[in-house]
Amino acid sequence: MLERQKFSDSVAQQRAWVEIDHKALAHNIRALKSLLAPTTELLAVVKANAYGHGVIEVTKTVLENGATWLAIATLGEGIEIREAGITAPILVLGATNTAAELEAIAHWDLQPTLCTLEQQKLFQETMKKLGKTLPVHLEIDTGMSRLGTRWEGAVEFVEAVHTSENLEIASIYSHFATADEVDLTMTHLQHERFKTTLTEIGKLGIPLPKLHLCNSAGTMLGQEFHYDMVRPGIAIYGCYPAPHMENVVALKPVMQVKARITQVKTLPPDTGVSYGHRFVTSQKTKIAVVGIGYADGIPRCLSNNLKVFVNGQLAPQLGSVTMDQIMLDVSHIENVQAGDIVTLIGKEGGDRLTVDQWANQLGTISYEILCGFKPRLPRIHL
Ligand SMILES: *Cc1c(COP(=O)(O)O)cnc(C)c1O
Repeated sequence: MLERQKFSDSVAQQRAWVEIDHKALAHNIRALKSLLAPTTELLAVVKANAYGHGVIEVTKTVLENGATWLAIATLGEGIEIREAGITAPILVLGATNTAAELEAIAHWDLQPTLCTLEQQKLFQETMKKLGKTLPVHLEIDTGMSRLGTRWEGAVEFVEAVHTSENLEIASIYSHFATADEVDLTMTHLQHERFKTTLTEIGKLGIPLPKLHLCNSAGTMLGQEFHYDMVRPGIAIYGCYPAPHMENVVALKPVMQVKARITQVKTLPPDTGVSYGHRFVTSQKTKIAVVGIGYADGIPRCLSNNLKVFVNGQLAPQLGSVTMDQIMLDVSHIENVQAGDIVTLIGKEGGDRLTVDQWANQLGTISYEILCGFKPRLPRIHL
């Protein structure tokens, strides 16, 4: 009998897939660690299925290569990691606003972010009922204007949690809004607000817990921002937060996206290709049909604007991207056959097709492209 698992894990059987290079992932963790003081910990942000890379496999590799903490966005993401038997400390970055969620967090040994006095009350009551003490991470909003108590009111907030029974402050953190920009004025201001808050907390005699501030961009700015731990996400996966940071540390792209040619044929001149005939041949054209489309995460907005590698050469994509398939112009490429593998994101020879190129074309960021590859594409871990 054909086992389902064997079928879905074998490249030989796939029409399209995502390849995850664990050597590159391990390299990136070690490269980022080399930027840190020996006592600074690395928390790997593995939310959103590890930015689309496959959370369980990624988590194992990052923990084996020097990461000591994990962070996810949702309760479900945390439970998935615990169910795989992974015991590393896990910070939940998203908000927790119900007793049921908090009980699950405590049950699964996850550590929540605490952002408001309302949550402080809820957390304290819930933990008292459970008769347990919960480590909590206090988020201070120093300028991101997302979760967290604004820095002006932070001292009272920290004091309230400090005096709460059944809650233990495991860390205090903040999050940068513009650390990837060339102009660091706002980043320095956020840092100043963080420092001022910490000084005031110290004056009250509250011992400072673990402190952390840096996403990938902040991590690349230098040790003065690092405190006890850094929280890189995108850099782990081999993408730079911004092009001007490329010289700070050598990262290797972790993800490649590949698909198979399913048919090759020759079209006469003046033949429309794909829905809406948004491409029409001007001469005799050899096309290859490829089994990947927008339901796999190939943005339809890239229609007529995408290039992929076929046998080491670039082939332009023709007409509209369809749900499950695209067509390529392979007139200039020899020996193209059904079954051949094409590379949409990745390296062939000395050249590379990158998620940043797609992001630039689409007016978005690499993060959205990485997270956009759908579960229908199996993740093949190499
Ligand atoms: C997502 C996230 C990170 C990681 O950000 P990158 O830019 O991917 O490095 C760090 N901290 C918080 C609070 C986040 O939400």
